[in-house]
Amino acid sequence: MSQVIRSPKMYDVCVIGSGAGGGTAAKVLTEGGLNVVLLEAGPPVTPEKDFKMLMWPYELPHRGVGVGGHAAENFGEFLAPNGAWDIEGEPYTSAPGSNFQWFRSRIVGGRTNHWGRIALRFAPIDFRSGTRDGLGDDWPITYDDLAPYYDKVESYIGVFGTRENVSSAPDGMFLPPPKPRCTDLIVKKACDKIGIICIPSRLAILTRSVNGRLACHYCGQCGRGCVTASNFSSSQVMIPPAMKTGKLTMVTGAMAREVLLGKDGKAEGVSYIDKATRTEKRVSARAVVLAASACESARLLLNSTSAQFPNGLANSSGAVGRYLTDSVGSDGWGIIPQLEKMPPHNHDGVGGMHMYIPWWKFDRKNDFPRGYHIEFGGGREMPGVGEFNDLLHEEEGYGAALKKRARQVYGVGIGLSGRGEMIPNPDTYCEIDPIVVDKWGIPVLRFHFKWSEYELRQAQDMQETFRAIIEAAGGEYKTKTPISGQHPFGIAEGGKIIHEVGTARMGADPKSAVLNAYCQSHDVKNVFVMDGAPLVTNPDKNPTLTIMALAWRASEYLLDEAKKGNL
Ligand SMILES: Cc1cc2nc3c(=O)[nH]c(=O)nc-3n(C[C@H](O)[C@H](O)[C@H](O)COP(=O)(O)OP(=O)(O)OC[C@H]3O[C@@H](n4cnc5c(N)ncnc54)[C@H](O)[C@@H]3O)c2cc1C
Ligand code: SF4
Repeated sequence: MSQVIRSPKMYDVCVIGSGAGGGTAAKVLTEGGLNVVLLEAGPPVTPEKDFKMLMWPYELPHRGVGVGGHAAENFGEFLAPNGAWDIEGEPYTSAPGSNFQWFRSRIVGGRTNHWGRIALRFAPIDFRSGTRDGLGDDWPITYDDLAPYYDKVESYIGVFGTRENVSSAPDGMFLPPPKPRCTDLIVKKACDKIGIICIPSRLAILTRSVNGRLACHYCGQCGRGCVTASNFSSSQVMIPPAMKTGKLTMVTGAMAREVLLGKDGKAEGVSYIDKATRTEKRVSARAVVLAASACESARLLLNSTSAQFPNGLANSSGAVGRYLTDSVGSDGWGIIPQLEKMPPHNHDGVGGMHMYIPWWKFDRKNDFPRGYHIEFGGGREMPGVGEFNDLLHEEEGYGAALKKRARQVYGVGIGLSGRGEMIPNPDTYCEIDPIVVDKWGIPVLRFHFKWSEYELRQAQDMQETFRAIIEAAGGEYKTKTPISGQHPFGIAEGGKIIHEVGTARMGADPKSAVLNAYCQSHDVKNVFVMDGAPLVTNPDKNPTLTIMALAWRASEYLLDEAKKGNL
């Protein structure tokens, strides 16, 4: 890589990454009239070819389990393409005593090709939780600042739900929800008995046609990607309108390496590896938006060193890479004998839960801070790859008897997953590994991760609640979790819930925050971060809707500043 190839063109903005945040930025900025170059490390996506909608296991090599069954770790080979815990030639490391898992995608649209589409607003209190309980910091914006952008995102992408007036789970601009499945009704009845709120879920899936995208036809398999674009992915919903403006130049196979700083103290462009030719190239732009996902954007900033910023670009606060959090996750399941009596039936629906349990203990004193919500599912959906593995471990024999048993137990289980808020702690952060580089020669991230007593107590509460719900439903709770060891109360490893955020947080004080209230660097005015990195806290709500609302708001601000000549 001795020669660097510079593009002669000067763009208004260079956006890095085309996922939830980058796709939103590309749409808003190009529709606002700016010329944008988008650097995307992965290839383009072609839904008709790349998505495995309505396919049978026998239509895939290895029947969908991958070589040696390994695809199961990445949610199976049916998953929309290019998402994995490990990417060949692009490692990351965990410091001794830590074990952080980082799920990445390298494709146009990033992880929005295969996300769960759970689209929940943060609540007003989530922006002020530091003041309420003294743990961590408040956001530099309030719910009211972001609410109009939640409205814009929901109206544009399409989110179903119902207006419920639950203070921990604000209502939005909803499409009608799908009907509850029978397992939903069982859980809802059990929840009513024991005083837990259970309401229709909120997913970015169309139950009515929106902007020419067709309504969902209830195949139930959103994780595979949707050929009719009836669920949200950035590749199908954000990138096409940006392309239509004629103002978007998309460069795929472009692995950004460093943001380049000019003599005037402003960013002047981005250097990237053209993966096809393995050459280093540069694009020039008047502003740079990092949206390569929270940790990758931190990596880019930390790798962009200069005399002015020896510890990484825009990092005079030292906060880049710090304040990393993931959601607290603990899962469980139980069997509901009454479901064994159900005749075979078609468990139609969207590819995700039809109901869920928002945080319901917000008005009482709990023995852990903040809260969690519960996602649940079960019943007779299309069997997934490896669906009967557990049965095969439990039952002996083969042939007709085994098939009969499989039919009997199929769909009698209900799984529950708690997703809760982690409080940022000083032992959890990412930094540049001093030794390891990836196959492009770019230094990789090293993760430090630790759960605190707060999160462990939350996981314990999740397990107790799961048991209470299953038992109230007349079922038998099957999950057993240890109270100590690596996964007390079934708490998932850090990163495993794939809600990692916070690594370039917003804040009013440049001494402790990387970005201002508009996701703009305090140090370098023409650098913005528009993925999960700006989030100040990581409430129980899954983060992607908030990532998009923040990116939309920051992009409108960027447009305004560009018009005023302030960048
Ligand atoms: C299976 C699964 C289920 C999920 N379910 C939910 C859910 O239900 N609800 C929810 O809110 N969230 C969910 N998430 C998380 C959600 O996908 C992420 O929060 C969201 O996609 C983050 O958006 P992003 O823009 O930060 O990053 P991404 O969507 O990951 O996009 C980053 C993009 O940047 C590109 N890129 C990375 N590095 C570089 C580089 N150096 N140069 C150029 N390009 C680069 C990548 O190729 C990618 O296209 C789920 C994730 C997974 C994997
Ligand atoms: S369930 Fe609906 S949105 Fe999901 S993949 Fe099937 S048709 Fe598309």
